[in-house]
Amino acid sequence: MSARRLILILGDQLTHGLGALKDIDREHDHVLLAEVMEEASHVPHHPKKIALIFSAMRHFSEALRARGIQVHYVTLDDPDNSGSLAGELLRWTQRLDPAEVHLTECGDWRLEQALRHCGVPIHWHQDSRFICSRDAFAAWAKGRKQLRMEFFYREMRRDSGLLLNLDGTPEGGAWNFDADNRKALPKGVRPPAPLSIEPDAITRDVLALVERRFTSHYGSLEGFDYPVTAEQAEHLWQYFLAQGLADFGDYQDAMADGEPFLFHSRISAALNIGLLDLRRICAEVEAAYRAGDVPLNAAEGFIRQLIGWREYVRGIYWLRMPEYAEGNRFGNSRALPEFYWTGKTRMNCMRQAIGQTLEHAYAHHIQRLMATGNFALLAGIAPKAICDWYLAVYMDAFDWVELPNTLGMVMHADGGYLGSKPYCASGQYIKCMSNHCQGCSYKVSESTGESACPFNALYWHFLMRHREPLERNPRIGMVYRNLARMTEAKQQALWDWGERLLAKLDAGEML
Ligand code: SF4
Repeated sequence: MSARRLILILGDQLTHGLGALKDIDREHDHVLLAEVMEEASHVPHHPKKIALIFSAMRHFSEALRARGIQVHYVTLDDPDNSGSLAGELLRWTQRLDPAEVHLTECGDWRLEQALRHCGVPIHWHQDSRFICSRDAFAAWAKGRKQLRMEFFYREMRRDSGLLLNLDGTPEGGAWNFDADNRKALPKGVRPPAPLSIEPDAITRDVLALVERRFTSHYGSLEGFDYPVTAEQAEHLWQYFLAQGLADFGDYQDAMADGEPFLFHSRISAALNIGLLDLRRICAEVEAAYRAGDVPLNAAEGFIRQLIGWREYVRGIYWLRMPEYAEGNRFGNSRALPEFYWTGKTRMNCMRQAIGQTLEHAYAHHIQRLMATGNFALLAGIAPKAICDWYLAVYMDAFDWVELPNTLGMVMHADGGYLGSKPYCASGQYIKCMSNHCQGCSYKVSESTGESACPFNALYWHFLMRHREPLERNPRIGMVYRNLARMTEAKQQALWDWGERLLAKLDAGEML
């Protein structure tokens, strides 16, 4: 007998309450999940990321079966595997002859287009795991000259009721306590040991498969210990609530040698593939604050990341794709240096950030923004090259979240649509926020010469080469006044050394 409905579930849609799974008829409906090479390799995804998604998909399909749902699961090694999700949808539609095919909105414009045009009529479901729908964001953005996260965030706070007083004013008298969240890690303050989850038989099978099939992808599979089920993700979440959240606010921007996770939750990958519920975890953060267990700057900072920034970047992505991906305001064309893939650089801050990325498929937001991202911005790396790198190497990176963060926030390549200024900084910022400079072969106090911190001359070179239009930006114009106070000889020396560093990059020399 033909299926009544065929429901395709993607690797980042592993949520029982998903739109396409609502009202499922266990007797007549069929669910399809497929591991396909196209999704695993359209950029060279980190092996741990592929392992996470495949293992979580396999566990989710078992959980669906345990609920009595008929599931068809296509493994990567299946000889009939067509290699793409559109191909699998076609193949299974022909095989099961369903009356209807159902799918929840994708997280990737490229994939959604492929599925919309694969020849199978699809009933699309809104992704209700997000608070702000694509349409609601478009309605908010309509008619606004500038889209600013802060104003969007306040609306999300009002809509959700999170951290609000009874009269609708924000808890603590301000919407945003970010100014309290920029402390470096003091000596003697130790972050909690990261929670480690032992791989089970399903995960071990997936690890063997990934090791065999993705030999050319950068990054280590060793020590995979990430949650692959909703229960394990909950364990990680409760561990963070108890051990990390109280200090998350103060030290969320800090970086430290040999400390890949600090007080960060590490839940982003689990959240982005659907193993955790956004509304519930925000409510639990508020409850922890109301119970006096965590300070307001930690609770507000965490909630802002989720209902503010995360929803905002998704809104921008769907509002502006596909043109958004073409943004290149500074006209950058430089290739990504090889050390982004190997971590082989004398710059300790970059070595720390890239090294832990290759090991864990993880770096926190300031490492991504102010170390690897800042360097790419200052060095004029082509936006597509750096965007593809971020998409490939981070376990939590999906196009809807990676592209606006990298192209907009990191590279300012969207011309300031997402962020009002480029986040460029010299080595001084990294010195203030980390202990990396103490263990570096470069001297952060020097700006030119072989031992000078490369971030310094590249920072001034970036500002000089993009004077027009940055000088007119009120949020960054001040640094041009600092530049003007330098002697012409000093300015020339910075320019010349910046040129020298860029030439080294172009020649593939190590920095
Ligand atoms: Fe990074 Fe420069 Fe500090 Fe070295 S000296 S760690 S390159 S900021």
